[in-house]
Amino acid sequence: MLPFSRVSIIGLGLIGSSIAHAVRERMPTVRLTGHDASAEVRAIADALELVDDVADTPGAAVTDADLVILCVPVCAMGAVAAEIAADLPAEAIVSDVGSCKAEVAAALAEALPGANVIPAHPVAGTERSGPEAGFASLFAGRWCIVTPPEGADPIAAERVAEFWRRLGSQVETMAPDHHDRVLAVTSHLPHLIAYTIVGTASDLEEVTSSEVIKFSAGGFRDFTRIAASDPTMWRDVFLSNKEAVLEMLQRFSEDLSQLQRAIRWGDGDALFEHFTKTRAIRRSIVEQGQDDAAPDFGRRH
Ligand code: NAP
Repeated sequence: MLPFSRVSIIGLGLIGSSIAHAVRERMPTVRLTGHDASAEVRAIADALELVDDVADTPGAAVTDADLVILCVPVCAMGAVAAEIAADLPAEAIVSDVGSCKAEVAAALAEALPGANVIPAHPVAGTERSGPEAGFASLFAGRWCIVTPPEGADPIAAERVAEFWRRLGSQVETMAPDHHDRVLAVTSHLPHLIAYTIVGTASDLEEVTSSEVIKFSAGGFRDFTRIAASDPTMWRDVFLSNKEAVLEMLQRFSEDLSQLQRAIRWGDGDALFEHFTKTRAIRRSIVEQGQDDAAPDFGRRH
């Protein structure tokens, strides 16, 4: 039996539209409704037939739902939850896909007192955004982390987990604070570093921007993919997961200083040992099916 039969998606960008495509493909009998704050996005969603019914207000999108998934930037979650509160059916489960969990969980609990709230985070995405960027296989083989609040209904949490399994994901359950520390190092810090490197390179006066682009295959271009990610989404991630990101950034700065010292003092052994350790991590990611084994990310040459 399907975990849900009437799913409402609020926010029809990359993640919301990918959920819609994946539900259509893997659970075709589910009735889908959706809403987005942007009239332009609603018109595109209508034209693409992403959902069965595109509603003009968030309330109208949830009146008949048994699962509501909020797919808006993390700092907008609380406001959107407040907008659906009056129209939310008593038996509906509310979930979200936000990249940070502790602050979002608190915002949802405050806006929806007494509601069945089971936050989640699909660890899958691309640097694209908007309703045309979504695709059905985005979540296949990727992890989805479910973060039920303390005292949450275990049956509701299992239904949300099963929903993500049906979309092709592997599911893990975590406490929200733990999720935020793990993602600070695996996702948020790498994005911050990529934004920094790309910004620094484009600011260098003695190297022209045309040279930066021309010789980017030396490594730079791999950072530019991450640094092309949606500015609104990432502004909100750093505002929302502030403490964990600052803690990981402190650790990173100390490790960077060590490498700086090794370069300054010509300590080749220290550099070699460090680079050998990091190579093994890349191998484990490929072995666990989280990336392509082909060299250079499988690019055609
Ligand atoms: P996106 O493509 O920019 O889509 C977000 C959509 O939400 C936009 O169409 C936006 O409209 C709309 N929106 C903003 N505020 C709203 C509101 N108050 N009510 C209704 N709609 C609203 O972003 P996304 O990549 O799908 O990200 C959505 C969520 O998924 C975020 O919480 C993000 O942290 C999480 N997530 C993202 C990724 C990723 O790689 N992208 C991965 C996992 C999780 P406007 O454009 O008009 O503002």
